[in-house]
Amino acid sequence: MRQIYFLGGTFDPPHLGHLKLARAAVENFGPDEFLIVPDHIPPHKDAEGLAPDADRLEMCRLTFTDPIFTVSDIDLGREGRSYSVDLVRLLAEEYPGDRLWFVMASDMLLSFDRWYRWKEILRYCGIAGFTREKAIDNEDLNEYADRVLRPWGEVKLGVVDPLELSSTEVRAAAAAGESLVGLVAPEVEAYIREKGLYGAPEEVRDEDP
Ligand code: ATP
Repeated sequence: MRQIYFLGGTFDPPHLGHLKLARAAVENFGPDEFLIVPDHIPPHKDAEGLAPDADRLEMCRLTFTDPIFTVSDIDLGREGRSYSVDLVRLLAEEYPGDRLWFVMASDMLLSFDRWYRWKEILRYCGIAGFTREKAIDNEDLNEYADRVLRPWGEVKLGVVDPLELSSTEVRAAAAAGESLVGLVAPEVEAYIREKGLYGAPEEVRDEDP
């Protein structure tokens, strides 16, 4: 049975914390395949101010360049709002007979029992969880997993030294015209400037002489 891992997210924009999480999942668990799945319109976020799907998809391609990663547009272009339960159902159809693992960090993991149809999600996939901030360790995650999630499905925890960073911070830095070095891949920084995403001052190019 092949082990298929996936990391969903808004990726608005994808940053080096996302990349570190995905690479940690590869190192900890050795997946056969690893999908990066940008969400269409996530139910828990206000859609206003999101970069267009095509730009988030392209920035994912520029970030997740290791050969193990496949950036998937499976969740984009779907009608209506995007719920994780719909995504995992779709993936289960795409990968019949394989084991699916939903990679997520502590913010998502610790609120998982408030997700729409979360018990159903756990029928289709296991969770591969990691901490996202130094204040939360695997003991905290394990306690929650034991108490709330494991009665309904499989949860395993990996080890990572988290990079404390969010897309919200990246958008704020871009809007302020600050450098994004150390926050996103250099190619993503160039893309954000070229497109003027998040209110970033657009690159001024010299006219050809
Ligand atoms: P926003 O600031 O817009 O809410 P975000 O930075 O939280 O965005 P998402 O696209 O919502 O990013 O996150 C996608 C997945 O990546 C989630 O599972 C989330 O827990 C995880 N993640 C986000 N940032 C980090 C980080 N710095 N370290 C580890 N995991 C992260």
